[in-house]
Order: sequence, then C-alpha cells, then structure tokens
Amino acid sequence: MAIPLLFFSCTNNQKDDAKDRGDALYTNNQSPLRENPYIELPLGSVKARGWLKQMLMGQKEGSTGHLDELYPKVMGESNGWLGGNGDQWERGPYWIHGLITLAYTLNDHELIEKTQPWIEWILDSQKPSGYFGPDTDFEENLPGVQRTNAADWWPRMVVLKILKQYYSATQDERVIDLMTNYFKYQLETLPEKPLDNWTFWARYRGGDNLMIVYWLYNRTGDHFLLELADLIHKQTFNYTHKFLETDMIKDHERIHCVNLAQGIKEPAIYYQHSNDDKHIKAVKTAFADIKKFSGQPQGMYGGDEALRNNNPINGVELCSVVELMYSLETILEITGDVQFADHLERVAYNALPAQITDDFMERQYFQQANQVKVTREHRNFSLNHGGTDVCFGLFTGYPCCTSNMHQGWPIFTQNAWYATADGGLAALYYAPTEVTAKVGDGTEITVEEETNYPFEDNVRFEINIPEGKQVSFPLKLRIPEWSQSASLMVNGDEYSTPEANQVISINRQWTDKDVVELKLPAQVELNRWHERAVSVDRGPLNFVLKIDSKWEKVNNTKDPDRYGEYYYKVTPQSPWNYGLIDVAEDKIQEQYELIRRQNDGSFPWNPENAPLEIKTKARRIQNWKLYNGSAGPLPYSNQYGAKTSDEVEAITLIPYGCSNLRISEFPLVGNYHVMR
Ligand SMILES: [Zn+2]
Repeated sequence: MAIPLLFFSCTNNQKDDAKDRGDALYTNNQSPLRENPYIELPLGSVKARGWLKQMLMGQKEGSTGHLDELYPKVMGESNGWLGGNGDQWERGPYWIHGLITLAYTLNDHELIEKTQPWIEWILDSQKPSGYFGPDTDFEENLPGVQRTNAADWWPRMVVLKILKQYYSATQDERVIDLMTNYFKYQLETLPEKPLDNWTFWARYRGGDNLMIVYWLYNRTGDHFLLELADLIHKQTFNYTHKFLETDMIKDHERIHCVNLAQGIKEPAIYYQHSNDDKHIKAVKTAFADIKKFSGQPQGMYGGDEALRNNNPINGVELCSVVELMYSLETILEITGDVQFADHLERVAYNALPAQITDDFMERQYFQQANQVKVTREHRNFSLNHGGTDVCFGLFTGYPCCTSNMHQGWPIFTQNAWYATADGGLAALYYAPTEVTAKVGDGTEITVEEETNYPFEDNVRFEINIPEGKQVSFPLKLRIPEWSQSASLMVNGDEYSTPEANQVISINRQWTDKDVVELKLPAQVELNRWHERAVSVDRGPLNFVLKIDSKWEKVNNTKDPDRYGEYYYKVTPQSPWNYGLIDVAEDKIQEQYELIRRQNDGSFPWNPENAPLEIKTKARRIQNWKLYNGSAGPLPYSNQYGAKTSDEVEAITLIPYGCSNLRISEFPLVGNYHVMR
C-alpha cells in the first residue's frame, strides 16, 4: 500500500499558520501545538503475531465479532446509531470503536463490512447545523436500553474516536467534513449547553473530545478549532487543579473509577497547547497518588464505581482497565516517558487478560487482586448489581464493559509501534507484532518483532527493506525501569548495555535482514501494599497464588433480562490463605525459583498453559478467612504471634494475567523482620 508521500503533508498549504514541521512521513502536531516525540501510525500498519494474534482472533470469533447477535436488543438494527428507535447512547459506539480497530488491524473484510453501516449512517446523519447522530428524545428508557439524552455530548466523543480510526484506515474525506461542521456546532452551542448539560459524563471525559479537536487541527489548520479546544478544556472537570492542589485521590473523594481512568490523560492532551509543565506534573502526581492510596499490583486501583482505598478486595472495573490503557498510550505519544510504557505493560499483561475468558465470550464487571471466590453474592463494593459483579458472563454486573472491552487489545496492538518525529520507528512496549511504515527517505519497510514477551526476556527485531536498498533511520527501543542488565546486539555483535529507564535510539544505515536483539533480564522483586502485604513481581508480570478452581455454569432463572441467562461461578478447590515466608533481601532470588514451562504454542493466558511459574514457600494463616465472599481483612505482615500452621508448604505462583482465582497481595509470615 504505497501512499504518496505528499499525502500526509497536504494540509500545510491550506492554512498558513499551521506550519508543517518537516515530518512529511506522518502528521505530527502543527504549530502552535508542541511537537510530539511519537506519532500514531495509520490503523492497519501494525499486525499482531504469536499470542497477540491468537488474542485478536479470539475476539473475532468471540464476542467482538458477534456482539450484534449476542446482544441484539442494543447492538441490533434498532440501535439509534443505525437510525433505529432503540439504544442511542454510549454502548453501540463503544463496541464499534473496538470492532473497527480490530477489523482493520486484522484486515478482515467480514468485520469491516459489519462496521460500515454504522459509519455510513453516522456520516449521513449530519444536519445543516453540524449536529449529527440520533436526535429523538424518547420519554423513557426501555429495560436495559438507553433511549434518553439523544443530544448528549458524551457518546459523540466515542463516535469521534471511531471516525478518527476509520479515517486513519481509509482516508475517507467525509470524516474531515463531518468533524469540521460538528466542531463549528460545538463552538456555537457549548456556551449555552455546556458539556454537562445532559449528563455529567461529558464533563469528566472532555479530554477525549479535546484530543480529536487537536487531531483535526493538525489536518486542516482551522484556527477556530483552537478556540473550541480552549472552551472544551475550560468546561472539563479541572483534573490539573484536583491532582495538584487537592486531596481528591488521597481522601478517596467520590470520583467515578472510569472517569478517573479516562480523565487522567486530559492534562497531557491540553499540554500539547499549553506547553506548561504543570500539566505533565499533574498527571505524574495523580499516578503516584493513585498507586499509593488506591493501587493494586496489576497496575490498577480500587474503583468499584467509586474510587476506593488500596484494599486488594476492592473491585476493578473492566472499563477502567481498557480506558486506563488508552490514556497511557495517549500520554506516551505526547511525553515519550518510560514510566507510562512500564505502567501500560503492567495493566495490559496483568489486569486485562485476567478479566476476560480465553474465548472472549465472558468477562467480569469487577475483578479483585485477591480474588478467592467468583460467586453471586453481595461484596463490600461501593455498588452491587444483584451480587453478580465478579461472576463471569456477558451481562453480569453492568453492560458498559460488555460494549467497551473490545478496544483494549486492538488499540494496544496499533500503538505497539509509533513513528518518531525524526523519521524513525519506536517500540515503546513489547509484544509479538510486525509493523509496515515509512522511514528515513520515505522508504516503506517492515520490522518483524519476534518474541514471546512478556513470558520471555528477549525481543528480536528483523528489518525488511525492499529491493536490497539501504535506509538510514533511528530505531528507538524502551529500556524499562525494572531492567537493570539490559543488552543489545545488532547482527550478532554486542552493540550496547543500556542503563534502565530510558528510550535508546539506534541510528544507522540499515540493510535488509538486519537483526536487533534486545535482552531484558528481570529479577524477582517484592513490593509493599495494603497492610504491608507484598506482591511478587518480575519484569512486567505480577505473580499470584495458583488456586485450583472449579468452573460451573449457572442458569439464571431469577433475572435473565438483567444479568444474562447464565453466568459462571468459580470456586476454590485448594487453600488460599497463605502467608509468604519472610527472608532477607539477599535470599529473595533463591527463595523464589522461576520455572520456564514448555509451551507448544497453546494460548498462554490461563492457569494450565502459563509459560512461567515461581515456586516458593509459605505457611497457612489459620484465622485468615472469608468475609462477604472475599478474602477477609489482610493479616498485617510479620504479625507478632500470628496464628500460622507449623507446616511450611511449597506453593506455585503463576502470572496474574493467567489466573482466575488468586492471591496477589500476601501477608509475610516468619520471624526475619519481626523486630523491625
Ligand atoms: Zn464498564
């Protein structure tokens, strides 16, 4: 797919001020916006391989490819975004955002065809005023169908993200016209009908709207867009102020968990125009505070609707997981800061795979870091949906996640490679992929990234350049913060041993079939959490207690319209109340023995196929028991006089992302640290 070079810089003759920065290969920010270090590639440039390809194919065969059949009352022809009189709020757009990204990433014509009627209806729906989308306010919601607030700004923000993806894959110019007219309508209408005119969601999620306004500005240079951007920023919940100058996070002020995951990127998005470091400081402060006061080892935070403290039985909503990933990918492009890539891998490789079944047919509304029983009962969450919130099903808990979860892996795949502002390519997080993109003098090359990462420490890149040409460009690779002995080889020769926590740039003239090998050895680390419990971490992976579990399908005759006709419960068949034996710092590596298991290419994200295990020792804590369906209050670590069994047992830990039931935060037992 040879796209003329000029295509991507054709905007700079339209408006004089929007100065092109010479990055003729891909569209960077235009003046006065800051230049970004990394640029998203056109959708379809990055393909998945290995386990990631299996994951995406699972989505196609599973609920992502079939949600219209599985959830017809919302995703069928009656959907308002297809012109029907049914659901007209966020759910249809949520699904299509994931589906369209999957469809073009797989270049799957069947899936592309499924998205097209939505795109066509949306593009045809625009009125002379610039308004688009459903326009009829029905008096009432039908059960499980959202039919009010037709004009709400919020679902349109999701639709704008869909249209950006569609344009990225197809360059259909109708998108540019629709957005331009809609943004004129927004500029005219927002002063009277601000973001929270219909519902409060848009005020917390205005960053998504702002992001697309800048995206369009970079393509058209229309100055009214900067005026609109400032207006949207002013009407959006003031995250910068809240993060920097208040105790909102520390005090677990009632903020909605998904709004936080989604809104955390707003200061970084606005930073592109403000150029004021306080906006990046706000984001970094927020991440540090969230970890400290609400954090869990899988990279998420207690947020079962409301933001909660760091107790590992507090729920984590699936929408928060995929939205936090989207936020981290966006912030990464703007800042290039390694901490956000490290964090992204942590969420993607721990929280996300754990919350959805291998066949991509069932998911949990809430997951728990310490999750010992997946059953229908009321837990100590800030909100319960008939006790179904942790059960695996397509409709347990609440159906936002049913619709929104599809974006996680496809967008993660898309952003596994960025173009760089200096004409190169960057892999800021690692996964089995391949990228086809233009570099240097505009030559289109392919880089194959061969790895079983995160289950393997080595990543191998092979550069493929057509017709024996040579081409100069920088290849940028992230060295994670946890990687203290990284090494890099080029064509079999040692190239460097880079320090941790940086992005390195390999600048050279590349030849077809050049090979770069990156080794990122990791060590087991123990990290402290709630009640001084520890998590066992190695590289991007958190390791959790492997609990034998029994899956049972439960027919739901009580309230099938609400929570589905069936769901799955998972109960433990082996003990979970273990404390880890405390040992001195210099004994940790021998106390936690890493075992690499043969993997024949089977899907790795389940307890049976987990490619890595850690063996260690533990004692049972006899009075650590169930409480309201969850692991009871965590015994304080190194509790003096703890009621533990005499027997020291060998236990097996597996990656969090491979687990269904688990202990992720363990109390420490034993005497080593007792007097500290
Ligand atoms: Zn949700």
